[in-house]
Amino acid sequence: MEAKIQSVRASAIEECSKLENLEQLQQLRVKYLGKKGEVTQLLRGMGSIPADQRPLVGQMVNRLKSELEQLYDQKETELEQQVQQKRMQMEALDITLPGRKPKIGSLHPLTLVLDEIKQIFIAMGYQVVEGPEIETDYYNFEALNIPKDHPARDMQDTFYITEEFLLRSQTSPVQIHVMEGQEPPVRIIAPGKVYRADSDLTHSPMFHQVEGLLVDQGVTFADLKGTLQAFAKALFGSETKTRFRPSYFPFTEPSAEVDVSCIICRGTGCRVCSNTGWLEILGSGMVDPRVLAKVGYDIDKVSGFAFGMGIERITMLKYGINDIRLFFTNDQRFLNQFK
Ligand SMILES: [Zn+2]
Repeated sequence: MEAKIQSVRASAIEECSKLENLEQLQQLRVKYLGKKGEVTQLLRGMGSIPADQRPLVGQMVNRLKSELEQLYDQKETELEQQVQQKRMQMEALDITLPGRKPKIGSLHPLTLVLDEIKQIFIAMGYQVVEGPEIETDYYNFEALNIPKDHPARDMQDTFYITEEFLLRSQTSPVQIHVMEGQEPPVRIIAPGKVYRADSDLTHSPMFHQVEGLLVDQGVTFADLKGTLQAFAKALFGSETKTRFRPSYFPFTEPSAEVDVSCIICRGTGCRVCSNTGWLEILGSGMVDPRVLAKVGYDIDKVSGFAFGMGIERITMLKYGINDIRLFFTNDQRFLNQFK
């Protein structure tokens, strides 16, 4: 009988040491301490042993019973702690992990170049003004010496909203608004969006221009040349050369296209400048006296010059970009290069 008790004890303890969870512990309790459990069976078997040995054996079985009860309670606490610990680990916050950094944007390349252009002219005493993107036929054409039957209206494929209203095809209408509102001297640049029905590698139906206008007493073509030469050197570098070619614009007379020495090859000839050594950057001229007269200026007293350039074109030249559409497709791989 004593050997039997020892063997039940040994297997009960061994099985308990292999437990993995609370359900298994419950099964083990039933197996040994339940109504039909092995320890209970031992007590029931007492009847078959000699009476003088019963108290001793009874004591041994009861001791085993309380030993196992204690062992199981202890195991239960242990398993509960394990469960708790596991849950805490799963729910834990690792405060040593680095935080998620918010992505910081950067200025668009067109904004960067426009800001640079603005700074150059602000330093020369120019004011920055803006005007509406929806214009009347009068401000976009008529007031700029482009009458209804003028061929320039065919040259510019304009987005008309109605016969009277249109998306401005140039920033020049801002000149008229400004001159109508103030007496000379006028010294402004007008940056903004313009719209033309044109789309390919170098043309976008919406693009940006900067228009410049200076009206004062005694303004000559020499002032125009000096201003634009200073501008080209400030934007492209002090070694930059400029070249003025006769041209035609309805609202300036005389008119000139302005080229700068190629910023890639410095004038020796390359693919970007088609081996000419020159890049066209803007159009300019002396404001046609008829435009000044139309806004009520005294053309015997004042004269002026105007110029206009495409910001996309200048940005493409400055950064060697060959497709205008890159500016408007919001590809971060492209935009991140200008951080
Ligand atoms: Zn070149």
